[in-house]
Amino acid sequence: MRRPFLVANWKMQKGRAAALAFARAFLPRLADDLETEVAIAPPFVALDALGRALAGSPVALAAQNVHPESQGAFTGEIAPAMLVEAGCSYAIVGHSERRVLFGEQSAFVADKVAALLAHDIAPIVCVGESLEAREAGRSFEVIGAQLEESLATLPPARAAVLVMAYEPRWAIGTGRTATPGQAQEVHAMIRARLVERFGAAGDAIRIQYGGSVKPDNVAALLAEPDIDGALVGGASLEPESFAALLQQSGGPR
Ligand code: PEP
Repeated sequence: MRRPFLVANWKMQKGRAAALAFARAFLPRLADDLETEVAIAPPFVALDALGRALAGSPVALAAQNVHPESQGAFTGEIAPAMLVEAGCSYAIVGHSERRVLFGEQSAFVADKVAALLAHDIAPIVCVGESLEAREAGRSFEVIGAQLEESLATLPPARAAVLVMAYEPRWAIGTGRTATPGQAQEVHAMIRARLVERFGAAGDAIRIQYGGSVKPDNVAALLAEPDIDGALVGGASLEPESFAALLQQSGGPR
């Protein structure tokens, strides 16, 4: 059974004060018997304060990125142990904005996965194709390669902690969502690769969809058999809208 999992990716939005204001408005809206797992990934500078505000609540803390080295001359970077200290249970790696805007390659993502595992932080590994690749009929080829290379360091014995996210680049922040059928087709391919690679453990790995997920489309997406949650940007920024997403996301599957 895969418990649905929603992650708020705030990107470069909300510093400490805004993150705390969100927590104050959002936490009272949560049902006592929350069936969906939920995490928030604020900017690094808000991790500590938000982590304290979320303590004792069912909401986990996630990082938006990590550097694979444990310390050293890496100006502007954050090490896995620092995320542990801030209280992170999850870290997003390989987000398309990292891949496209900062040139991150899948081999680097794989290094991050290894570093996170060594610190017991669960990686949320993002994959997704560009519009050009989709229109050229190369979606499976591109996503399959990203998956194989990004997971190269993940031993089968640790596969259970992995979360995958399929984020078609053409649907992120564009208001253009993949239809449930389009997303399921890719999720099924990812599922098949995970099972091929990790056996039965691959079947238990949650695969989130990301790309303009909103309260009015999340239920239809999560009704698909291999869509186990969502990585949400824009619609996670307001407490009302993220709470509405949670309400629409259903229970264990
Ligand atoms: C994202 O940040 O990963 C994302 C999917 O953004 P949005 O929901 O705004 O498309």
